[in-house]
Amino acid sequence: MNRRMKYKEIILLKLGEIVLKGLNRTNFEQQLLSNVRFRLSRIGNFHVSILQSTVYIRPTDAEADARVTEAVEAMRLVYGVVVVCRTAECPKDMAEISRLLPEVCADALSGVSSFKVHVRRSDKKFPLTSPEIAAEAGGVLLEAFPHLSVDLDHPEMTVYVEIRDHAAYLHAGQLPGAGGLPVGTGGRGMLMLSGGIDSPVAGHMMAKRGVLLSAVHFESPPYTSERARQKVLDLAAQMSLRCGRIRLYVVNAAPLMEALRGACQEDLFTLLLRRMMMRMACELAMREDCGCVITGESLGQVASQTMPSLAVTSEVCDRLLLRPLIGMDKEEIIRVARATDTFEISTRPFEDCCTVFTPKHPNTKPKSDRLAAEEAKLDFEPLLRAALDGAELIVVGSSPRGEAEGRDRA
Ligand code: ATP
Ligand code: MG
Repeated sequence: MNRRMKYKEIILLKLGEIVLKGLNRTNFEQQLLSNVRFRLSRIGNFHVSILQSTVYIRPTDAEADARVTEAVEAMRLVYGVVVVCRTAECPKDMAEISRLLPEVCADALSGVSSFKVHVRRSDKKFPLTSPEIAAEAGGVLLEAFPHLSVDLDHPEMTVYVEIRDHAAYLHAGQLPGAGGLPVGTGGRGMLMLSGGIDSPVAGHMMAKRGVLLSAVHFESPPYTSERARQKVLDLAAQMSLRCGRIRLYVVNAAPLMEALRGACQEDLFTLLLRRMMMRMACELAMREDCGCVITGESLGQVASQTMPSLAVTSEVCDRLLLRPLIGMDKEEIIRVARATDTFEISTRPFEDCCTVFTPKHPNTKPKSDRLAAEEAKLDFEPLLRAALDGAELIVVGSSPRGEAEGRDRA
């Protein structure tokens, strides 16, 4: 029960109807419920149920009551949710609705001058029609807040009265959800996660299509610092708020880089390294049962992302390679990075690993036989194996039981 008010506050989540038709509805809903419970488990005790494509979230104790705001914010990040409503549950009785409505809407209506009432009457047995409910509710609000007027076309605030199977639900305004599909309904993917702006955005875009992420980051100490590594861990932690738990592998690529620098032609260095990273990402993808590898590459953005360069990197990938940013401008990518709260972390200054290794004149039209010839100059398989054997697995994002971030060897 709300401390100040005399009604039960609950959260309703609305799912995308169109999407539900195209997918196996039960799997979709069960995955969404499981994701919702996972996120709420960190906040408090809530009862979660689903009825007619609407998720009902009820605080089950006073502590959870006090954390409804936090729960609402967390629910806005859950992929698969289109609308989030913080609502008051009320008996299905017009007199009760009229009594509660001004109290429920008081805060939201205090700063506006116009409103309208939107009625959803899914219980067709309710004695009043939708227009009758709207007229009655509108009248009550006009009486309670004389500064208001009704504007059906461009109201500053919309008040919702929903007559559902078990109760009526009243709220002013509703919040947009993250949209997309529930994480876990689209298989698993191995994200190549650098500390830059692009790869976290690529991860979010695939998670939004339902892909559960594992990730790999290649570090190269002492050329990269502990701070650079921390930046990647912070990015993964931020991403886990939307993408769920992320199994992140951190692989030391320094010995491999040194071997490449010693043996191979400089102009191809970046691409040779990219191909080595891709091979390791594919191996980890297999271990993690990932159907795809995901990168943050965008056509033409840098020398290693020309069409021929992308082609020679794809060549060594033995599974589906997804590059969700391929046709996006940097400005568009930055917009998503800001919206998903990774931009600030990605732009933290730190020593870039590759400055020591970046070729002065990178080859932008690489030929795959030349790359293969360069690779033949060193026995790279044992280097890849050693790097993967030393990989550290860090599980980012807490479990449903609220455990802290776990850590174990890969
Ligand atoms: P980002 O902003 O994601 O770092 P970028 O524009 O800097 O991308 P590159 O450095 O060429 O581009 O990297 C292209 C892609 O290769 C990255 O988006 C990422 O998927 C992958 N990648 C690059 N460096 C690493 C790394 N150290 N560890 C894991 N993946 C990497
Ligand atoms: Mg980068």
